[in-house]
Amino acid sequence: MSSPHMGGTEEGFVKEAFDTNWIAPLGPNVNGFEQDLETYLGKNSHVAALSSGTAAIHLGLVLLGVTSGDEVLCQSMTFSATANPICYLGATPVFVDSERDTWNMCPEHLEIAIKARLAAGKRPKAIIPVHLYGMPARMAEINAVASKYEIPVLEDAAEALGSSVDGQMCGTFGAIAALSFNGNKIITTSGGGALVSPDEAVAQNARFLATQARDDAPHYQHSQIGYNYRMSNVCAGVGRGQMQVLNERVAQRRSVFSKYADLFSDKKGITILEEPTGFYSNRWLTTILIDPSKAGLSREDLRLALEAENIESRPLWKPMHKQPIFEQYPYYGSGTAEGLFADGLCLPSGSNLTDEDLQRVFSVINRVID
Ligand SMILES: *Cc1c(COP(=O)(O)O)cnc(C)c1O
Repeated sequence: MSSPHMGGTEEGFVKEAFDTNWIAPLGPNVNGFEQDLETYLGKNSHVAALSSGTAAIHLGLVLLGVTSGDEVLCQSMTFSATANPICYLGATPVFVDSERDTWNMCPEHLEIAIKARLAAGKRPKAIIPVHLYGMPARMAEINAVASKYEIPVLEDAAEALGSSVDGQMCGTFGAIAALSFNGNKIITTSGGGALVSPDEAVAQNARFLATQARDDAPHYQHSQIGYNYRMSNVCAGVGRGQMQVLNERVAQRRSVFSKYADLFSDKKGITILEEPTGFYSNRWLTTILIDPSKAGLSREDLRLALEAENIESRPLWKPMHKQPIFEQYPYYGSGTAEGLFADGLCLPSGSNLTDEDLQRVFSVINRVID
């Protein structure tokens, strides 16, 4: 559905790491990759390169002061890695429904959830919206609610590097943001992530906590609990090469999306997700909704037909409040995420898909639908 796509210069940066023996979780590639990301994101962003996106969310919550017994508001429709770190800290996730325009956190349900938690005597410590499949969440409205109640936002931008709203990059809307460079993301470091903040001290603190929280002393001295979450200089070399082709990758994903959009334009009951005005999606994955009553088939019919031809597709994220491990936690919403899960499908979307690959996918789709 989305496989790694090297640009060509990655090996050179990795070779340099070997030639200079910077085979460690620090070094010139780590610093260079952080600078590349800061330049790309703009808006005075400060970046700490880490071992994964999950590590970035975990450290982000630590830096926002989340501890045992706290509550954290979290988009329900997402990958489990958004919510797991809340539980690592012994805090409680409170799940919030999505809205239909972006499939991300619904600002109205967010406010309903905050009011209900305050009425129950609990002040949520953080809000985690997600930009699913590259489509930005309604950050202006979410940030307005967040600042009204003075709750910081931790933006899960793992799927949205290269996406923006009115020219402002995803990853620069929250007090803290998390990026992922896992093998399936729009660019990869084979495995990695980053914490982003407009506050340089926060990024510096993340680097400190990510390297075992060593105090400034000749011996090993610790005044805080540390983590081993820093990115390797070898992986960061891959990242520096990938940054040179990031804009090209976004263009390729968007081109895959528009080919699907053409294909589905005359198919009844199948809809693609349009960009609201000012929204720009990296189209990490092309996703569709199938209304079985109009299309004459369900998303599962199409998924199985593709699978029979050895083509991978997958239902949208199953909402967290429906997951066995999370269903005991509070949820505020009106069934939008469940509906999207029931009808939605992610299609093969890699930037390295050839025209031949796509034609093979399209011919299965045409055959099943027509
Ligand atoms: C991939 C992903 C993560 C986790 O990133 P890793 O680098 O795999 O740890 C978190 N949230 C979302 C929405 C993701 O898609």
